[in-house]
Amino acid sequence: MLPFKLVYSDDYFLPIGAHVFPAEKYRHIHDRLLATGVASPSDFVTPRPATDQDILLVHTPQYVEKLKTGTLSGREQLELEIPFSKELVRAFWLAAGGSILAADHALKDGVAFSIGGGFHHAFPDHGEGFCMIHDVAVAIRRMQRDDKIRTAMTVDCDVHQGNGTAAIFAGTRTTSDPLPSIPNSPMNPLHTVQTAKTKMHTGHAGDVFTISLHQENNYPVWKPPSSIDIDLPDGIGDDDYLAWLDNALSSGLRRFEPELICYLAGADPYCEDQLGGLSLTINGLKKRDALVFRVAKAKGIPVMVTFAGGYAENVEDTVTIHCNTIMAAQEVHTA
Ligand SMILES: [Zn+2]
Repeated sequence: MLPFKLVYSDDYFLPIGAHVFPAEKYRHIHDRLLATGVASPSDFVTPRPATDQDILLVHTPQYVEKLKTGTLSGREQLELEIPFSKELVRAFWLAAGGSILAADHALKDGVAFSIGGGFHHAFPDHGEGFCMIHDVAVAIRRMQRDDKIRTAMTVDCDVHQGNGTAAIFAGTRTTSDPLPSIPNSPMNPLHTVQTAKTKMHTGHAGDVFTISLHQENNYPVWKPPSSIDIDLPDGIGDDDYLAWLDNALSSGLRRFEPELICYLAGADPYCEDQLGGLSLTINGLKKRDALVFRVAKAKGIPVMVTFAGGYAENVEDTVTIHCNTIMAAQEVHTA
């Protein structure tokens, strides 16, 4: 039995037909966890869809109305990059409900997962890049509305920048002095060469501090500023990535004290990802996860995890990377 809950429903499946987004990955993760004995049936909890009121904590009434009445324009449907349907709307309402439930469990148990979610390209008034509803933002705003937290931090390790997250939580940000641009890590003796092109941008945050580590030369073209953005050059590997993550986490947690960390554990920084251009290994990605969980545990901050992207040539690799995130949390929390 795991020391935390896994929020999951078979209805997380996105009805999008043949698509680069492997909608079946959620069920495969669930089945693999049971088959390998990592989880038992009692570790899983079933989410309910978010209410419209929850969705409206983040999204505009006009956008919600268009989704519910199926009246997105042709351009808006194209921007989503997944085929619109009523069933798809239901799946995203459920993903948001799942993230709310996972946030609630994280506050009780120190960590919780939604085996779904992480739709970080959704904006208040539109969806894009496979993301219709920003489930993580909805969960944060719901926890705040219920007075369960005042502050939160998003740690987005998907290979693509969290543009929706940055836009939603932009707050009243002012430019601040740049932080040291080269991480000082014994893990990384070659950092001055290999990370010469990496850029770190920082700004002041409102009540939600946003961190995004992503490949600079990738979607989205326009990257609204997060509280900390790490723009990574193409092809960066495990050691450099881990050094930058370490640097971003310590910089962020020096400046901000969140009551909840929402970790977007994208599998797409993987070297064999079809939509990513970084070179992390499966083992390196597990070290990434362990680093996030260790840092949060040391500070006593609960972590809610969503899985975001993952487009490995072999979908089983994506499933392995996501299952490893759960095992990393288990190892850190039972250590
Ligand atoms: Zn992604």
